[in-house]
Amino acid sequence: MKKIYLDHNATTPLDPRVLEAMLPYYKDIFGNASSVHEFGRQARKAIDEARVKVARLLGAKDPDEIVFTSSGTESDNFAIKGAAHSLKSKGAHIITSSIEHHAVLNTCKFLEKVGFQVTYAPVDKYGVVDIEAIKKAVTEKTILITIMFANNEVGTIEPISEIAAFARQKGILFHTDAVQALGKVPIDAARLGADLISVSAHKLYGPKGTGALYIRKGVKLTPLLHGGHHEKNRRASTENVAGIVGFGKAAELAVANMKQETRDIEELRRTLEKGITTGIKCAFLNGHSTNRLCNTANISFEYLEGEGIILSLDMEGIAVSTGSACTSGSLEPSHVLTAMGIDPVKTQGSIRFSLGKDNTREDIDYVLKVLPPIIERLRKMSPLYHE
Ligand SMILES: *Cc1c(COP(=O)(O)O)cnc(C)c1O
Repeated sequence: MKKIYLDHNATTPLDPRVLEAMLPYYKDIFGNASSVHEFGRQARKAIDEARVKVARLLGAKDPDEIVFTSSGTESDNFAIKGAAHSLKSKGAHIITSSIEHHAVLNTCKFLEKVGFQVTYAPVDKYGVVDIEAIKKAVTEKTILITIMFANNEVGTIEPISEIAAFARQKGILFHTDAVQALGKVPIDAARLGADLISVSAHKLYGPKGTGALYIRKGVKLTPLLHGGHHEKNRRASTENVAGIVGFGKAAELAVANMKQETRDIEELRRTLEKGITTGIKCAFLNGHSTNRLCNTANISFEYLEGEGIILSLDMEGIAVSTGSACTSGSLEPSHVLTAMGIDPVKTQGSIRFSLGKDNTREDIDYVLKVLPPIIERLRKMSPLYHE
């Protein structure tokens, strides 16, 4: 059976060129990057080269502003807890949004339990965060503003430069979770003026288990991990050399191909979106119509359960999801759609299609052929639906 993967916001396949670049570091070049001998020096050199490539993709002025971590989740934890810890004598108030990834939301919830105050700024019906609410929430105790670059469930791109500029003017540290944006939207860390930026390799055709945190020069964070002097004392533990090399290669490929690839993906997404919303009754797009990731279409099919649609599509070889991979299986409504004020009748039946660079027009045509009869069949069985 044909297999069509449309869940790239959960994870992407490893690019074969990335795997190729990584393999030597699982074989002959196995040294510990902290060792002074030839084995170690080769590993160190590979990490340094990867750091330059990731810095280039992020628009960091200095490669030393990149600290490699084990994931996007770790980068978010490092940025938020690290800032909270190092600035707590100044204040204990943090501002975030209500639609962040759980790596940010649950880190903030944890900090609330240990004495910090957190403001969760609301979003509008398109998922755009309310900047005025952020501005109003600031007090002299505010030490950090953390707002995601682009939302993973609906794809809405947030007004990050405006928020970063505001934070800077107020002397408040600014972090953005750019895990979903990296490789899809140009990011220019130096121009943006963000202090901290989280990214992860497996969302852009790199390996799982490798992330990075951009830490603007001069910003001091308390480390999460204590131990050796790795990553200039910012993150202890022996480096995942192969993973870091893979991240570097994925970043290099993104720098070279992002423009063309995102254009092609966007065209496919438009075809899919148009085909669904014109061909199926009571199907509505969630998220911003234009300020959105090129690859993401979150669509609500009224009167249905998302899980039912996913399972039916899975039987036809098509992989999609209800939103975030972390909440699927729980049947809880998406916190993102809920924060956007979407009617529960619609949030229940929402499906996220997230495309990638290897999807083709044939894939989309196949989905557009298979999906309408599935929706029709499920609606006939739905007690909520009446013709
Ligand atoms: C996937 C994702 C994360 C988590 O990254 P991992 O590397 O999987 O831990 C964090 N934030 C956003 C927006 C994501 O999409």
